[in-house]
Amino acid sequence: MRNVGYPGRHRTTGVNRHDGSTGQRTGQALLLVRPRQPRPAIAPVATDTDEPAASSTPPKKISLADPAARWTAAPGGPAFFAYSTNYLIDLQAGIIVDVEATPANRSQEVESTRTMINRVEHQRDLKPRRLVGDTAYGTAALLGWMVEQKHIEPHVSVWDKTTRKDNTFSRSEFIWNEQANEYRCPAGNALRSDWRPFRNARTHVTKADTIVYRASQMDCDGCSMKDRCCPNTLFRKVVRSVHEAARDEARRIAATPEYKQSRRQRKKVEMLFAHLKRILKLDRLRLRGPSGAHDEFLMAATAQNLRRMAKWLTPEGKQANQAAT
Ligand code: SF4
Repeated sequence: MRNVGYPGRHRTTGVNRHDGSTGQRTGQALLLVRPRQPRPAIAPVATDTDEPAASSTPPKKISLADPAARWTAAPGGPAFFAYSTNYLIDLQAGIIVDVEATPANRSQEVESTRTMINRVEHQRDLKPRRLVGDTAYGTAALLGWMVEQKHIEPHVSVWDKTTRKDNTFSRSEFIWNEQANEYRCPAGNALRSDWRPFRNARTHVTKADTIVYRASQMDCDGCSMKDRCCPNTLFRKVVRSVHEAARDEARRIAATPEYKQSRRQRKKVEMLFAHLKRILKLDRLRLRGPSGAHDEFLMAATAQNLRRMAKWLTPEGKQANQAAT
């Protein structure tokens, strides 16, 4: 079992432009090392349901030469067709342990983490003890998979958009009671997933893997805090993910000194992507399709690993002599 893993992603232009002709793209278009907010395939939802929703919007443009490439852009930059390279690296050694090519789409990039973790586990008997990543990897589904299925420590900030900005109560102001399976609102009343017994037991789990907890309308009708709680609805609802325990685990880890160290170590993957772009000049793919992109990304990662190994094997004095001659 290795100490740590870190997934990261970087976008590279596809082989051809959208009109099918070959052409040079400017380097400027490639300043896309893990953009903070590319035109999102997943978008934050400003409700109690704090998970990013997968976009059902069809792509704006489809490449005639390579339909699997995704039309994308950095904020303020020009758009182009691109694939993403996703790395899983060993933070201790700085070695890339797996590579996965995906279309330049945030949800597919994040999902590639599962593919890579499973692959290195089955093929190389490597399993990370902790996984370090940014907020994109902090979705409830991925955290649930990490904690509940793979037993990996999530050193990842939780994707949480439940804080309300309209001065009404946010979800954090409702107290969860695990044993009673209910929330308590600031007025001390219960929010439950079911207010009456059902002949056939129901899970109340929605398609989004959440459970909706509702206050009693009678409680809310006469409540002095209604204006600050649910001014536009008859009663208050609070949505809880079925993976909330995993999210709580990630929040607990985020308060530890180990998490701060993990955050500092994240730059190791950023450096690999910078190296990929500036030294290896991988700003354009020559092969088409997802398999072509995968082959090129794999070769580039191999070159990066060989370069690192050469540095390890060459004594420092010898390196200095070679540089002087
Ligand atoms: S409005 Fe309803 S849910 Fe909100 S504080 Fe009052 S009783 Fe509780």
